[in-house]
Amino acid sequence: MQFKTFQPPHRTLMGPGPSDVHPRVLEALGRPTIGHLDPQFVAMMDELKQLLQYAFRTTNPLTIPVSGPGSAGMEAAFVNLVEPGDTVIVCINGVFGGRMKENVERCGATAVMVEDPWGHPVDVDKVELALKAHPEASVLAFVHAETSTGARSDAETLCRLAHEYGCLVIMDAVTSLGGIPVEIDAWGVDAVYSGSQKCLSCTPGLSPVSFSPRAVERIRSRTHKVQSWFLDLNLVMGYWGGGDATPKRAYHHTAPINALYGLHESLVMLAEEGLEASWARHRRMHEALAAGIEAMGLELIVAAPWRLPQLNAVRVPVGVDEAAVRQRLLAEFDLEIGGGLGALAGKAWRIGLMGYAARPDNVRLCLRALGTALAGVEGVNAAAGVESAEGMLGRAAA
Ligand code: PLP
Repeated sequence: MQFKTFQPPHRTLMGPGPSDVHPRVLEALGRPTIGHLDPQFVAMMDELKQLLQYAFRTTNPLTIPVSGPGSAGMEAAFVNLVEPGDTVIVCINGVFGGRMKENVERCGATAVMVEDPWGHPVDVDKVELALKAHPEASVLAFVHAETSTGARSDAETLCRLAHEYGCLVIMDAVTSLGGIPVEIDAWGVDAVYSGSQKCLSCTPGLSPVSFSPRAVERIRSRTHKVQSWFLDLNLVMGYWGGGDATPKRAYHHTAPINALYGLHESLVMLAEEGLEASWARHRRMHEALAAGIEAMGLELIVAAPWRLPQLNAVRVPVGVDEAAVRQRLLAEFDLEIGGGLGALAGKAWRIGLMGYAARPDNVRLCLRALGTALAGVEGVNAAAGVESAEGMLGRAAA
């Protein structure tokens, strides 16, 4: 059998993630591999922790990248903070809240569900009722930015309520980090996890996490061993440090060395741009895209106050084959957008403007490609999209 080197095509990634990876990050990945306990690597790890503290707006010492995708960060939060017999209030308004429920149950705990329709934010009043009805609950868990629908929830209010009722907070920030404000210390989030492949524009496979001192205290005083050896933060802290001032690093697992160079570079770029500037860029690109989408006669699914700039869910017009349009964009424009999931399957396109993908040329390409694919569809003004967005992009540049 003859195998050849794999040469991927050059795509523009405007789906729900992974997003376009910046060339500087790709270049960083190819640097020489050194030992995972090499003093220079350990110094880079320390910087990485500081950069993540900057991105999460926290002083939590336990702020590290978990060696695994966002799902590993999610599991790390649940297996460390939830014990058998606990009660956890879980908010579901899309796919990823459903995964939180799975995690709670696999920890031997009871999940009390607070459900909201897809495309809506978590209803804070319903959460307060659940907290009142379940004084035994020890954790409130919610997704800040639901990638399956493009809806943002009111994290600040949810955190305040959780603390009023004596709960710790687990927050999913996989899609929010770097794209919209994420204020770990100001909001009082106790455990947060994110992903490298969304608004940080790094390659997939790493999950930045941060745990508050209160959460670390809860982990240290557990009565049951953490069910996962790999994700047991009591052990991981021995390698990354972070629970306290423990400078000595001991082997736990072989860190994904080159992947961490990539994450470091992506965070250096975020710091160079500045967090607020990054949030503002995501917002500007979203406003231009949304203007183009609406000018074409298409509809955004999420109500304006709760829209995520980095994930735009667009309703598929009646009679249009959702998947066929995506296939055409990929084949003719090398452009990837996402389809709907779960309740939105076949009914929505999900257009990502994440990290390096949130730039004017991508907005133009996407609107031009959609216009081509939807030409002739009743009620769609295919040509109006780019023109309308151009006005906004011009204003943004001025
Ligand atoms: N949570 C949210 C909100 C996500 O969007 C994703 C992935 O898209 C995940 C969790 C899981 O992350 P990963 O696919 O990196 O495991």
